[in-house]
Formats: sequence, structure tokens, C-alpha cells
Amino acid sequence: MAVERTLSIIKPDAVAKNVIGEIYSRFEKSGLKIIASRMHHLSRQEAEGFYAVHKARPFFNDLVSFMISGPVMVQVLEGENAVLNHRQLMGATDPKKAEPGTIRADFADSIDANAVHGSDAAETAAVEIAYFFPAMSIYSR
Ligand code: UDP
Repeated sequence: MAVERTLSIIKPDAVAKNVIGEIYSRFEKSGLKIIASRMHHLSRQEAEGFYAVHKARPFFNDLVSFMISGPVMVQVLEGENAVLNHRQLMGATDPKKAEPGTIRADFADSIDANAVHGSDAAETAAVEIAYFFPAMSIYSR
């Protein structure tokens, strides 16, 4: 299996619930390393750019408003099979459908306020990581 990188965002709802450490702990226990990390309050323009792929979807405006409602934690995770491993830790987009014990099952309130974001493929991860972190601020180890 290949060592991969993926982009994780702890969304404003989960930051407000004070569960950053709990979520980081789940990453580390699953073998993912946090190799870059920052708290950031997205501007509307930044959130629209990040979610540009969803621009035509009916939930786009609500999603952008939610993502700028408070600060987020953004991190790069590295490890074997990181993209899929992280998606499994997150659980399904809709927390009502998420497996028990996943981050969304435990901390998300709804499909809109669903606690976390994770890249869905290695190619997307590369683009999303570059959106937030210059290469020199990523500390592979
Ligand atoms: N989303 C939403 N309503 C929907 C579907 C998605 O508000 O009906 C939001 C939700 O926050 C989700 C994000 O849009 O996390 C991106 O959607 P995607 O299908 O890519 O889900 P994810 O990859 O985050 O599980």
C-alpha cells in the first residue's frame, strides 16, 4: 500500500463543540500523522473556491455560509492509504447514515453541519492541500 496525503478540515460546528483534540486523537490512533495544521477563518471567496466543484448544487450557498460561520482547523494527514483510511474514520456524509463510532456519527448534527471534510481521492487531495499549505509548511516525517 502506498503512503498518501489527504486534506482534512474540522468544520465550524465541530470546532465550536471543542472536539479538535478528540478528532486528532482518532487520526493518530489510526496511524495517520498530522504533518501540517492551522486554524483559519475562511472568507466567502475562499470557501466558494474550495467548494467550486459543488457550485451548481442546490446546497452550495448554505454550505459556503456554514463554512464561514466560524474558524475551522485544516490539516494534512499522511499515512498508508490515507485518503480511504480518513474517509472511513469520517463516516458517511449524512451522519444519520454514518457507521457507529465514526466522527460524523459521534459529532455531526446534520448533513449540512457534518463536522469534517476529507479529500475523496489522491488527485483531489493534492489540489486541496495546495489550496491551504505551501510545500515548505508541510513536515513529512
Ligand atoms: N452537503 C450538504 N447537503 C447535501 C450534500 C452535501 O450540505 O445534500 C454538504 C456537506 O457539508 C458535505 C459537502 O456538502 O460534506 C460536500 O459534499 P460531498 O458530497 O462531497 O460529501 P463529503 O465528501 O463531504 O462526504
